[in-house]
Amino acid sequence: MKQYDAIIIGFGKAGKTLAAELSNRGWQVAIVERSNMMYGGTCPNIACIPTKMLVHEAEVSALLYYDDFPKQANMYKQAIGRKNRLTSFLRNDNYERLNKRPNVTIYTGTGSFVSSNTIKVALPEGDIELQGKEIFINTGSTPIIPAIDGIQHSQHVYTSSTLLDLNVLPHHLIIIGGGYIGLEFASMYAGFGSKVTILEGGNKFMPREDRDIANSVKEVMDKKGIEIHLNTRAQSVHDTSDGVTLTYSDVSDGTPYYVDGDAILIATGRKPMIEGLNLQAAGVGVDAHGAIIVNDQLRTTVPHIWAMGDVKGGSQFTYVSLDDFRIIRDQLFGDKKRDIGDRDPVQYAVFIDPPLAHIGISEEEALKRGYSFKVSRLPATSIVRTRTLQQTDGMLKAIINNHNGKIMGCTLFCADASEIINTVAMAMKTGQPSTFLRDFIFTHPSMSEGLNQLFDV
Ligand SMILES: Cc1cc2nc3c(=O)[nH]c(=O)nc-3n(C[C@H](O)[C@H](O)[C@H](O)COP(=O)(O)OP(=O)(O)OC[C@H]3O[C@@H](n4cnc5c(N)ncnc54)[C@H](O)[C@@H]3O)c2cc1C
Repeated sequence: MKQYDAIIIGFGKAGKTLAAELSNRGWQVAIVERSNMMYGGTCPNIACIPTKMLVHEAEVSALLYYDDFPKQANMYKQAIGRKNRLTSFLRNDNYERLNKRPNVTIYTGTGSFVSSNTIKVALPEGDIELQGKEIFINTGSTPIIPAIDGIQHSQHVYTSSTLLDLNVLPHHLIIIGGGYIGLEFASMYAGFGSKVTILEGGNKFMPREDRDIANSVKEVMDKKGIEIHLNTRAQSVHDTSDGVTLTYSDVSDGTPYYVDGDAILIATGRKPMIEGLNLQAAGVGVDAHGAIIVNDQLRTTVPHIWAMGDVKGGSQFTYVSLDDFRIIRDQLFGDKKRDIGDRDPVQYAVFIDPPLAHIGISEEEALKRGYSFKVSRLPATSIVRTRTLQQTDGMLKAIINNHNGKIMGCTLFCADASEIINTVAMAMKTGQPSTFLRDFIFTHPSMSEGLNQLFDV
């Protein structure tokens, strides 16, 4: 049986970064990836990178060919081709970066535990077993597929990964789930010219956001013609001669409805990918949501087995997975000061058009917790840069502590929000008062200079 200092199951962000680090330190490393289409993990192959490329393509398409469906459909087809070339380039690059290292071996097969130190890899030529002193689980997450009649047999039902392979632009895309992935796809396909209908089970649009922000997003979605139905439960799916019919009911009174479309996207969340890992053979515990239980330093219930990225539950972001790598590096080689408790608040961005980004506390949370704070709001139109970009939609909002002037939270729904939020995050994490951003010198004209106005309260 081959012996390794480390076995990493899953070629995700944390896994590949850790493999390179351990290799630099002279460890013998095995990295196990179940699919030759997934080197580099979810982000570059089927998630962040392809979607953000298509979000950009959709914005260009909307500018060039607004209201001309055949031209948009052609642009979409070409965009899918460009996306495929990019993901293929990144996949090969990710593979080569590890493969060229003499002390890293990539096994392309599904990994599972035989015992706490032994991993079985199912290779096309047969199973092999590997032994590792330290084992790292980085298997990511997988879409949750709700029980809807007919969903398994329909030719028109997609997940976020499979929809990215469809190169025919749907005239009408139905999205089940109004979470952030659902909204990104809604905005993107509406940009390409599809009619989009979102069916959301909850009774509140964007429940995590303050109502003024959610309403502002809703207004922009309305302008794009995106229909949003709350309180719905999808019941059944039937393929028809020219598409698909989805039957759903109104949760409040049971009234049945149906909607016809060309494609249905299931965007009802993602769960930790533990299927087939045979965790019980190693004694690795999972919680009620199927997430691998870890302590603050990312050790599982078996001390030499670690979990990182989506599989351990919590926020599902590539940069959180990368930070998990940093925590483990610190535990193995550093002064052991880092843990998951010290990275909050973590910012996030939703790549709708314009993008929405947030960090820290919302106004509703601040009220609930009884803080003394002030709120600043700024319409995006107040920033002259939005006019030069012809992207005047949206608003900015900040929550500032009355006692110490520190920034408690900030939401940006405006052009470049996904970039500017990092500046706010830096100010917050370095403990700057809000006046720091009020008086900061930004380039002009830029979206960042909106922070001068936002924090002038
Ligand atoms: C549509 C979409 C858009 C997103 N956009 C963003 C974004 O813009 N920004 C952002 O930060 N995050 C985004 N995310 C989330 C982000 O993609 C994930 O949080 C991140 O990729 C998780 O990385 P990870 O390290 O947990 O592992 P992953 O990158 O998921 O890698 C896990 C790997 O393990 C492999 N694997 C699974 N089981 C086994 C097994 N038993 N044996 C061997 N290999 C196995 C899988 O094939 C996969 O390659 C998005 C997600 C989706 C779905």
